[in-house]
Amino acid sequence: MSITSVPFFRPSIGEEEIAAVTECLRSGWLTTGPKTAAFEAAFAAYLGGGVEAIAVNSATAALHLGLEALGVGPGDEVIVPTLTFTATAEVVRYLGATPVLVDVDAETLCIDLERVEAAITPQTKVVMPVHFAGRMCDMTRLRQIADRHGLRILDDAAHALPAHHQGVTVGKCGADVTAFSFYANKTMTTGEGGMVVTADPAIAARIKVMRLHGIDRDVFNRFTDPRASWVYDVVAPGFKYNLTDIASALGLVQLGRANDFGRIRAERVARYDAAFADLPLILPPRPAEGDGHSWHLYIVQLRDDAPVNRDDFILALKERGIGISVHYRPLHQMTVWKPFCKGGTFPQADLVFSRCVSLPLFMAMSDAEQDRVIEVVRSVLEARA
Ligand SMILES: *Cc1c(COP(=O)(O)O)cnc(C)c1O
Repeated sequence: MSITSVPFFRPSIGEEEIAAVTECLRSGWLTTGPKTAAFEAAFAAYLGGGVEAIAVNSATAALHLGLEALGVGPGDEVIVPTLTFTATAEVVRYLGATPVLVDVDAETLCIDLERVEAAITPQTKVVMPVHFAGRMCDMTRLRQIADRHGLRILDDAAHALPAHHQGVTVGKCGADVTAFSFYANKTMTTGEGGMVVTADPAIAARIKVMRLHGIDRDVFNRFTDPRASWVYDVVAPGFKYNLTDIASALGLVQLGRANDFGRIRAERVARYDAAFADLPLILPPRPAEGDGHSWHLYIVQLRDDAPVNRDDFILALKERGIGISVHYRPLHQMTVWKPFCKGGTFPQADLVFSRCVSLPLFMAMSDAEQDRVIEVVRSVLEARA
């Protein structure tokens, strides 16, 4: 069978996921309850324990709660890479604080640590690294910088499950708080959802309260505890960020498959790398020695000697039925974030954006689909060479 089109992404949802969600729907308990408690425990265990995992309805909520628990507020500055999704910077504004955009490293596409240090002021409170495409930032060096300046680290790990830095899993490798995403096209999904992870009990306690209206007891506790469900206090004007049990039922099954998913993506990456080695492309950055990459995205950059520019390359792929994406138009180019550039320049992010394309890479991809992507990419780049 010859394949004529390949989507950019298709989630990997099997019968086990469908059965788990169906069982939840039949159980009579839909919102945050036993499935969510089990999902949180399983997630913490997946990371090897020693942390609390708090389920929320998006990574954006996880990032917001993390910053809030770290005490960020008006007058504070938070350092953010310009090459990321808008959510990373947006949560800083939720709290009335100021995001400070910083360029990325040309090779790793993660935040440039020298520029992080140069951007630190007396107002700086938090640094938010993004493990870009699933490649880990140098968390050892970032932790040293943060400690030297008395800063906290909030990890945007939306791309990075599973991954590790120097043998230590993401979520435990130097950040004070880590946020994961279970959006539909992330490395595992609950449809929409996220998880906040921290080893600090005080931060965890604050996040749990703020996740649900600032109530001092969580929903499930109110229905299992011998005390009456209406006996609670509201200690802060909190948010409505809890995850449903329907989503958690799905998450439990997906989490059980996370390592297999990661292995499958790594195999697809090796296949792409081998097939593209002789083309005028800059292939995705490798993980550092001793690190593990989640391979959420496969991003290639067109070299100057490529026969087509990036936009024409995208058009040619689209014409031939290949789904693509671009990660990302840098934040400093966006209307809302232009005022937060502090006169800085972002030559690396500008260069990456001018020549990058994300190719299809997902767990449910077949060999035939990947062969088709390879065939099309090769034909476009060879034809006019
Ligand atoms: C997807 C993503 C987010 C937001 O995740 P949601 O779960 O959709 O809120 C944040 N940061 C990065 C880098 C992302 O890719």
